[in-house]
Amino acid sequence: MTPDDRLAAIHARIASAARTARRDPADVTLIAVSKTQPVEAIRPLLALGHRDFGENRVQEAQDKWPVLREKFPDARLHLVGQLQSNKAADAVAIADAIHSVDRSSLVTALARAMDAADRRPALFVQVNIGEEPQKGGCAIADLPALLAEARAADLPVGGLMCVPPAAVEPAPYFALLARIARDAGLPALSMGMSDDVEQAVTLGATHVRVGSALFGARA
Ligand SMILES: *Cc1c(COP(=O)(O)O)cnc(C)c1O
Repeated sequence: MTPDDRLAAIHARIASAARTARRDPADVTLIAVSKTQPVEAIRPLLALGHRDFGENRVQEAQDKWPVLREKFPDARLHLVGQLQSNKAADAVAIADAIHSVDRSSLVTALARAMDAADRRPALFVQVNIGEEPQKGGCAIADLPALLAEARAADLPVGGLMCVPPAAVEPAPYFALLARIARDAGLPALSMGMSDDVEQAVTLGATHVRVGSALFGARA
């Protein structure tokens, strides 16, 4: 399949799931997760008019995106990977959105970096929705305190993000994240990847993060 076909296929999956849920597909942002992909693999999607991309490492984003943005200055970059506090300033400088805010020290570092740079990427708090010890994300029980801290620091938190446990049905986890976000008054939901876009959109995803279904398997 060409990049064109792949992009059309994902948009069709989003549209079909949105129809089922009586949602407007335009309310779902497709983030093309281009981690590990070379710029040559990203350019065709930019040329087709796609604008939202995701990277999981700040260093890799710094290597790839300045050159891509020369020709496509309106591309939007979403950081979706775990972020070290000492990379907060670099993340704020390059990202339009950060999906992995998950702890107090990072809230502090991002607040300082945003004030210093006078730049405010949209933020999502990542929730460890399956309570998996090895995974990033804030524990569900710790979320209210973290959100309060982010609001006190005037951080633009707009939603929640999750990566559900692998190899089990994700829908209950998406539904749980949606309920937690609603209770917290947060409108955005970053959930759903290549294999579960439909479930995520049906359950209210506003941002889906799709890598392999768009670019092919990662090396
Ligand atoms: C890699 C990655 C994705 C994309 O995963 P695919 O299964 O390739 O679609 C989405 N979200 C995060 C946080 C990722 O690291």
